[in-house]
Amino acid sequence: MSEASSTLEVVLATHNQHKVAEFQRILGERMPGLTVLAYDGPSPVEDGTSFAENALIKARAAAAHTGRIALADDSGICVDVMGGAPGIFSARWAGSRAGDENNLRLLLDQLADVKRPDRGASFRCTIALVVPDALVPGGEEVVAEGRWPGALAYEPRGSHGFGYDPIFEPEGREVTAAELAPEVKNAESHRARAFAALVPELERVAAGLR
Ligand code: IMP
Repeated sequence: MSEASSTLEVVLATHNQHKVAEFQRILGERMPGLTVLAYDGPSPVEDGTSFAENALIKARAAAAHTGRIALADDSGICVDVMGGAPGIFSARWAGSRAGDENNLRLLLDQLADVKRPDRGASFRCTIALVVPDALVPGGEEVVAEGRWPGALAYEPRGSHGFGYDPIFEPEGREVTAAELAPEVKNAESHRARAFAALVPELERVAAGLR
């Protein structure tokens, strides 16, 4: 843990306070002096065609608006036999007002006739880090990714988590993500893996600002 990283402040491009608290808790454990600030500026249109593009769109907007180092995440579930769908459309797979339960039901219906070996899927999480050129000449953009491989169940099981957790069976386990204790999911998930990839990048950026 370098001295410089202990004073690093980053703004998180979300209006969701729970997400700010989650980033503060997870990143703060590994970089004790890191402060994750909430963002209250304008939200850009997320018109990218990949998790990375959408995360970068959000982080660039927050960096430009605040002049600070900015983070943004984008995540979803990708089903192999569907060519990676729902992917970036995970949150609105059954329509923009559908909600988690309808999204999950539609995906199960679509996969109803697909047998076990072909039900492979993964959760993906991408976190973009944007350093504005006011802080580093030319600025800098980094994308950290985490992938949690597994397969889709036939019926929802479990009561923890959110979204597609009740129908996602992580590789090497016979339970769904919604049956895992939250601490276990938090340690193994696509998000945990993206955070693990992000920390060295944040430490490097912090050292460069010294
Ligand atoms: P966002 O990145 O917070 O916008 O999440 C996109 C969507 O992906 C969510 O609405 C969920 O449907 C799905 N998703 C992302 N991460 C998870 C997860 O850890 N469990 C279940 N669903 C997830």
